Amino acid sequence: MEAMKETVEESLREMRETFASGRTRSLKWRKAQIGAIYEMVKDNEDKICNALFQDLGKHSTEAFRDELGVVLRTATVAINCLDKWAVPKHSKLPLLFYPAKGKVISEPYGTVLVLSSWNFPISLSLDPLIGAIAAGNTVLLKSSELSPNASAFLAKTIPAYLDTKAIKVIEGGPDVATILLQHQWDKIFFTGSPKIGRIIMAAAAQHLTPVTLELGGKCPTIVDHLTISKNIKSVVKRIAGGKWGSCNGQACISVDYVLIEKSFAPTLIDMLKPTIKSFFGEIPKESGCLSRIANKQHVRRLSRLLSDPRVQASIVYGGSIDEDKLYVEPTILLDPPLDSEIMNEEIFGPILPIITVRDIQESIGIINTKPKPLAIYAFTNDENLKTRILSETSSGSVTFNDVMIQYMCDALPFGGVGESGIGRYHGKYSFDCFSHEKAIMEGSLGMDLEARYPPWNNFKLTF
Ligand code: NAD
Repeated sequence: MEAMKETVEESLREMRETFASGRTRSLKWRKAQIGAIYEMVKDNEDKICNALFQDLGKHSTEAFRDELGVVLRTATVAINCLDKWAVPKHSKLPLLFYPAKGKVISEPYGTVLVLSSWNFPISLSLDPLIGAIAAGNTVLLKSSELSPNASAFLAKTIPAYLDTKAIKVIEGGPDVATILLQHQWDKIFFTGSPKIGRIIMAAAAQHLTPVTLELGGKCPTIVDHLTISKNIKSVVKRIAGGKWGSCNGQACISVDYVLIEKSFAPTLIDMLKPTIKSFFGEIPKESGCLSRIANKQHVRRLSRLLSDPRVQASIVYGGSIDEDKLYVEPTILLDPPLDSEIMNEEIFGPILPIITVRDIQESIGIINTKPKPLAIYAFTNDENLKTRILSETSSGSVTFNDVMIQYMCDALPFGGVGESGIGRYHGKYSFDCFSHEKAIMEGSLGMDLEARYPPWNNFKLTF
């Protein structure tokens, strides 16, 4: 660890020198670096897909949809929009300030730290990296130790494409993160669990460093079957896709649990079972389309969540586990107790609890007993229910009649609230996330108001 401490110190010194040189402020440099990330992904599609397969058993189509494609689009949008994002914004000042002029310029924070997660190790590393570069910062990225092949790819390949004095990658786990957090950064961007998010924020507080925390939580999915009955087949496919079709439930915006009226639960379960088979075949364990659980610890964590006898009794589909193969069968639970661990911890795996209510409007009360989620999904065409969800709950986002696609849409901010995170990114929001908006006021020496200065004996100010 002594060698790592020296590496971190040397990296920080070099990045600060580079930032001070002004090189990273040039829009040309920023676009060239982002363009190099684009090229790196294009040139290495097979290697990246292979690394994601090794780490998580991700199918290459899933890998392209959720990771490579996301990064290529983020890079393209950033290159195309950077001039517009970076232009100073003129502010219309109140008449009181005439003839002064005002504007807001976006300045880079300086040297930033990005700590990423293992479940989408390429996109959750490169997306914030692109945002940080677009804003003109120097960046150190620490990838996750739990996706070793993807992390090794980033550590080896980024230096071959990018400006190594401005952009650095360090591999390692909590011990390396701890060393990094002992230093002063100008901004910290963290993707991970609320538990570690607290450690990051406490470390950042020592230097009053601004943080963005992209955390997780339990994302509920309301199914208002009466108003979507004509499209129920698509709804079932989307729920199954949002649970098992993206890193096998190991996504921060996965469908965590479903809320549905009791009378419709048997139909939903009867429709989910063949949908799972149509996605992954008769034996999902042998499917090449179902990502694996990250490691044995996570398999054991899921196994523990299922081990509660009350939860065992609620299994209506699946439930088998093969620790050596990092496999947990797609599993459906019907009404596990609301006070069980599985209904109070982010599941982050292929288990889908279905919670029944008498009236779908009761869903709102259940959601509000839990911390604010990263996303709420609701399949409904009832405008009254939509309004109630928007005004009576709080979450990072709400998506009606779909799941997870909000992540792909860079016109919308992505981030949590409360327990699910602080701050937001994607598209222009990423540029803003890594920029300080500096207020500029240009006064005029031509006029003066005597009331500004003492003595004030003869003046009475009113509003
Ligand atoms: P994690 O919090 O365990 O780890 C995240 C990062 O923190 C890793 O880089 C890890 O090395 C580092 N870390 C671990 N222990 C540390 C410590 N003691 N001190 C300092 N750093 C430490 O999370 P994870 O298991 O990698 O990811 C799962 C969590 O991340 C879930 O809660 C999920 O919802 C969330 N997540 C959020 C998003 C998002 O965009 N909001 C995306 C993916 C995952």
